[in-house]
Amino acid sequence: MAGLAAGCALAEAGFRVSLFERRPYLGGRASSYQHPGTGEIVDNCQHVLLGCCTNLLDFYRRAGVQDKIRWYEKLTFLEPGGRASVIAPSALPAPLHTAPSFLRADCLNFRDKLAISRALAVLAPSIPADGGESFLDWLKRHGQTAQAIERFWKTILVSALNEDLDQTSVPYAAQVVRESFLKSAAAGRMGIPTVPLTELYSTAGDYIRARGGEIQFRASVESFRTVPFAVNVTTNGQEEKFDYLVLAVPFDALGRMLPDTASAKPLAAALGQFSTSPITGIHLWFDRQITDLDHAVLLDRTIQWMFHKSRIIAARANEAHENGNGSYIELVVSCSRSLVEKSKAEIVEMAMREAQEFFPGAPDATLLKSTVIKEVHATYSPRPGIDQYRPKPGTAWPRVFLAGDWTATGWPATMEGAVRSGYLAADAVARFQGTKSASFLVPDLAPSGFMKLFR
Ligand SMILES: Cc1cc2nc3c(=O)[nH]c(=O)nc-3n(C[C@H](O)[C@H](O)[C@H](O)COP(=O)(O)OP(=O)(O)OC[C@H]3O[C@@H](n4cnc5c(N)ncnc54)[C@H](O)[C@@H]3O)c2cc1C
Repeated sequence: MAGLAAGCALAEAGFRVSLFERRPYLGGRASSYQHPGTGEIVDNCQHVLLGCCTNLLDFYRRAGVQDKIRWYEKLTFLEPGGRASVIAPSALPAPLHTAPSFLRADCLNFRDKLAISRALAVLAPSIPADGGESFLDWLKRHGQTAQAIERFWKTILVSALNEDLDQTSVPYAAQVVRESFLKSAAAGRMGIPTVPLTELYSTAGDYIRARGGEIQFRASVESFRTVPFAVNVTTNGQEEKFDYLVLAVPFDALGRMLPDTASAKPLAAALGQFSTSPITGIHLWFDRQITDLDHAVLLDRTIQWMFHKSRIIAARANEAHENGNGSYIELVVSCSRSLVEKSKAEIVEMAMREAQEFFPGAPDATLLKSTVIKEVHATYSPRPGIDQYRPKPGTAWPRVFLAGDWTATGWPATMEGAVRSGYLAADAVARFQGTKSASFLVPDLAPSGFMKLFR
């Protein structure tokens, strides 16, 4: 997405863009493909966005796919046994807009709610600096109950940041909470693509082609070297000359491309500071509906989210309507280190056991097929102190620029972070060329209600 965002922005600014992608399809870590075992088109994992993802939404507008996102105002938290608590905005001004539903939520008791409200009041005015403390220690220092940590903080933050709270930096956690819960109702609403991810992102490739660019698939960039007024890039053994190079690859792939020179050493050392965390998606096809919900947060178990794909994906909803009552569910476990070594059969067995605790229809349903997709290096770990190692787009080589969700965007590893990084790299290229002064970057959503006091 970082490469596509940079490519679209630069194509729009009049550059002739060549995009090299190692795989045979677009989307990178946000992609879909025909799964060989099931024959189904599956996303590598469910991806969601929030209303505050202004650059991602700008990218969708550019690619013409903004109407392929379905928006949801409500989040349903389910306890084992099926009791539901619904968090939804009210007419109250931010940051109080979700307060009435939060106060009614059965999954938290009065002490939990009091503790959470106090901590939110501390986070509302500003994002604390990274002092090396983990967010778990911060929460304990701010008097959070065990249940508030487990059912509120962990639930929201582990899925947003893909890391355990004891490995998460305070500013990353604070930013997620401010954007999704406090800033405004519009910032916190959740968007889910209604088409498979590669279908969503292929349009960005069309956008580049329509402006004179090209996309090359199965094209693995191996190395680069700067020459006077140009960069020579070696792809699949062939060297080619370009005016500029944007390297929009994950940090480990970048490490393999760097020249073995003194100028590369500081960047190589910074890359060595990053680590990753896994996400596991469990895809289940049933002979019937197991729930009426489109999605839900699942409390107190291994599985953290349920997405009812046959209701969300537009084509599948029509199919299900025509063919009877079968359903397709994806269950997601973020920060899934405990599942990495487990077999597919063990994970599906666990998922079925847990699904039966949450969904009344599950015990009677027959599982028709299933698959498990483990993304072992899903996202970089937002641990305390990591921000200082995230590089800006400019490098030691004047015509070479960096993009990727792990670069310095101020955002965690998300689609929004990836698009921001692409726009920032495009800005840097255009500035070097002297062709554009205004940034491609789109401003953040303005805070609403009382949050305007904390701009
Ligand atoms: C399982 C999972 C769930 C996620 N859920 C969410 C979510 O719900 N919401 C959200 O906002 N974000 C989510 N993310 C994060 C989001 O997918 C990433 O932050 C984003 O897609 C990263 O984009 P990127 O362009 O920086 O990197 P990538 O997507 O990794 O793109 C890098 C591209 O470079 C290509 N490449 C690598 N090496 C080479 C080479 N040598 N030559 C040519 N090409 C090469 C790769 O094939 C890839 O296409 C999730 C990620 C995963 C893995």
